[in-house]
Amino acid sequence: MATLLIRSPLISTLTVPTIKTTPSFFPITSTNSRKQTQPRIQISSKFNSFLDLKPESKPELLTMDLPFHDKSDRVKYDVIIIGAGPAGLRLAERVSTYGIRVCCIDPSPLSMWPNNYGVWVDEFQSLGLEDCLDKTWPMTTIFIDDQKTKYLDRSYGRVSRRDLKTKLIERSVLNGVKFFEAKAWKILHQEFESIVLCEDGTELKGSLIVDASGFRSSFVEFNEPRNHGYQIAHGILAEVDEHPFDLDKMVLMDWRDNHMGNEPVLRASNDKLPTFLYAMPFDSNLVFLEETSLVSRPVLSYMEVKQRMVARLRHLGIKVKRVIEDEKCLIPMGGPLPCIPQSVLCCGATAGLVHPSTGYMVAHTLARSTVLANAISECLGSTRMIRGSQMHQRVWNGLWPLERRSSREFYCFGMETLLKLDLKGTRRFFDAFFDLDPYYWQGFLSSRLNIRELGLLSMSLFGHASNSSRFDIVTKCPLPLVKMMGNLALNAI
Ligand SMILES: Cc1cc2nc3c(=O)[nH]c(=O)nc-3n(C[C@H](O)[C@H](O)[C@H](O)COP(=O)(O)OP(=O)(O)OC[C@H]3O[C@@H](n4cnc5c(N)ncnc54)[C@H](O)[C@@H]3O)c2cc1C
Repeated sequence: MATLLIRSPLISTLTVPTIKTTPSFFPITSTNSRKQTQPRIQISSKFNSFLDLKPESKPELLTMDLPFHDKSDRVKYDVIIIGAGPAGLRLAERVSTYGIRVCCIDPSPLSMWPNNYGVWVDEFQSLGLEDCLDKTWPMTTIFIDDQKTKYLDRSYGRVSRRDLKTKLIERSVLNGVKFFEAKAWKILHQEFESIVLCEDGTELKGSLIVDASGFRSSFVEFNEPRNHGYQIAHGILAEVDEHPFDLDKMVLMDWRDNHMGNEPVLRASNDKLPTFLYAMPFDSNLVFLEETSLVSRPVLSYMEVKQRMVARLRHLGIKVKRVIEDEKCLIPMGGPLPCIPQSVLCCGATAGLVHPSTGYMVAHTLARSTVLANAISECLGSTRMIRGSQMHQRVWNGLWPLERRSSREFYCFGMETLLKLDLKGTRRFFDAFFDLDPYYWQGFLSSRLNIRELGLLSMSLFGHASNSSRFDIVTKCPLPLVKMMGNLALNAI
């Protein structure tokens, strides 16, 4: 069990004048404009917090030679992929193994991905990518509350962004993938081909366009309102004096709230919309810490997430000496799938592949890219010549077959349930969830269960749940349940 350094809460109140962190997800706001617009945070302390430290890392570029699309060449590609994130590059690598001509467009294809990715080690092993993890922990810890801690016998790993990106690019280059450094601006469709217009005026022609440009894509169409939940988190890779976490265990969720002792306002809001700490201890002085709201709608204030993190770290006795990196994590979760089919195929975050109840996506997307590449090769591979709307129908069905759409409805139901739980309910839920047979909880977290297995999971969860948790399920879930059943019926028609 982790030994905690519990410090007595500090009672004096101090105003922290400015927040100097540089979120990686949103455009950087100058310190001056922040001073005018942001409320001042009241935090009980006589010390300044880690929020005063500027992240030291600078954007990095991979150093390798890329084969670029030649603007004077009137070539028509089979597949044009917009975006060189994990989804876009994996698909480029997979689909090009079939001899399909691929071009991948990104404003900066060699830039290091900004997000810190965590995955289950078995997921990466089954993809043959375990050499792309730069650190693994044999076990994971869940702190349910101050009294109860669970240890999960499932290894967790941190993705080496450099190794994974390098590997995907190297394999793609070997398979003949071309890159184009630009921002895609518009897509025009004709019957059997599409044209991507880039911001620099270049036009690229392809038989199939795949949008892998992330959550903010403007190319993908929806025909229902996008009622997402949001995961919001503030993370730092930090050098610290000391921390209380066991080095062989990754902390998946720490739901303890004893750091709120002298923070009645934070406590009341945390009781209603709880956040937890996610921690990857690399060594006794280096740790990645992320205060996370699993899912909220409307999204919990980012400022409040940071305030809670300050109070938590102080209580745990974690004094941050240097912030090496920071990240603002904002992940839309759940909501409707894009219209199926449509002329643009999607992949990764744009395709609704983010797990609606957890926010995880990377391992799942890397795995599904193989299926998607098969579906594409059936249309565009050397022996087949399926184009236009027939191809769109096929590849979309390859990405989202009925069975997968039904399972996703269930995962969305999971999200809607979590949205209704307060701190106590959330703790009870995870207490019962991690008591399930590992086949079920592991399968749920890795998006591996089919709809029948998800039904069995629900029954088992109900069986494992405490009486209060059953009460929560019976009183709070009927509406999301009816919605899920309705959507399942619509899918089946
Ligand atoms: C901070 C953060 C942390 C996360 N942590 C995890 C985690 O630990 N585990 C996990 O499984 N998931 C995690 N996720 C969720 C998800 O896996 C990531 O968002 C993932 O990066 C999505 O991959 P993607 O390839 O779909 O999109 P992105 O990674 O967003 O990549 C999109 C690419 O498209 C490019 N692009 C955008 N617009 C255009 C355009 N118009 N033309 C050309 N190129 C364009 C961008 O430059 C970028 O390179 C996290 C998300 C965030 C935001």
